[in-house]
Amino acid sequence: MSPAALWLPSITDTFARPLRNLRVSVTDRCNLRCQYCMPEEEYVWLRRDDVLTFEELRELVDIFTELGVDKVRLTGGEPLLRRDLPTLVRMLAQHPRVKDLAITTNGVLLTDQARALYEAGLHRVTVSLDTLRPERFQALTRRDAHHKVLDGIDAVRHVGFQGTKIDTVVMRGTNEDELVDLLEYGKRVGAEVRFIEYMDVGGATQWSMAKVFSRAAMLELFGQRYGRIEPVVEISSAPADRFVLPDGTVFGIIASTTTPFCRTCDRSRLTADGMWYLCLYAQKGIDLRTPLREGASREDIKSLIAGSWTRRRDRGAEARKELEALGVRAPLIQIEGLREDPHLEMHTRGG
Ligand code: SF4
Repeated sequence: MSPAALWLPSITDTFARPLRNLRVSVTDRCNLRCQYCMPEEEYVWLRRDDVLTFEELRELVDIFTELGVDKVRLTGGEPLLRRDLPTLVRMLAQHPRVKDLAITTNGVLLTDQARALYEAGLHRVTVSLDTLRPERFQALTRRDAHHKVLDGIDAVRHVGFQGTKIDTVVMRGTNEDELVDLLEYGKRVGAEVRFIEYMDVGGATQWSMAKVFSRAAMLELFGQRYGRIEPVVEISSAPADRFVLPDGTVFGIIASTTTPFCRTCDRSRLTADGMWYLCLYAQKGIDLRTPLREGASREDIKSLIAGSWTRRRDRGAEARKELEALGVRAPLIQIEGLREDPHLEMHTRGG
């Protein structure tokens, strides 16, 4: 079949935003305990029996591609904790309508898995890395694994991946003094660094506006160090605005907190147990596991997805910003609420 014959137009939501980008969480488990995502001692986990099999995930992804999805990103929790993940990668990489298959990982297990993921057909890797200092990493994540992450980033390069990215969550008073060091590190390892404003999402129970190091502050800092910073002119629905240094180095800033980009958002999120969320901030998801396991037809599941997307009005980050103007912006959900429904946690819905 020709590529043109495979292409299917995307459905659109009430703001004419297409359904293109699906983030698939393969596990809610994580081997780090980052302050901004999993600051608590105890968590309520998804029921193991509810976690979708690879075949179920492939089936759902296949249905999503018939409605316009052509980019799939595997997330978690930490996706490399899911056993035999390269098997799922191979299944999705062979899908003719999945044009971009990527993963976001904390990198701890990458050294062991990078080659298998590459050989299975994974296209791109994004590694989360918030500091180059081992002792700071330990304080931030409550785990001693910094060297494993750096080794994992090396492994990604050596097995041949292109387009690797490093995602850095920037928190005022925590790591804003390392932004230049991280950018220089990205140059050395051939990865584009994306700096992410600290967000008041579910799980970020210690968030406050005072801890946000804004996009404007980042650009000022880089301008002082490097001189003129130019925006990269491109049409994209990607969350990062990209910039170029005088030496040609490109980096990104994801400014969801101070400069939301909901108007172009084509992303949705599927949890490991088959709940589908239309927005990072959505409090309710759509249960796709139950109809899938109860034998609903493909057309029924497709109608459920299509109907939900065409009614979509979510613009969560913009709504949060409006609260700021009223002086009432605080963590999205308090710990009690997170314990009642683990789907509200970012480590469950894949950040
Ligand atoms: S807040 Fe929701 S609508 Fe806005 S960019 Fe994020 S996921 Fe999209």
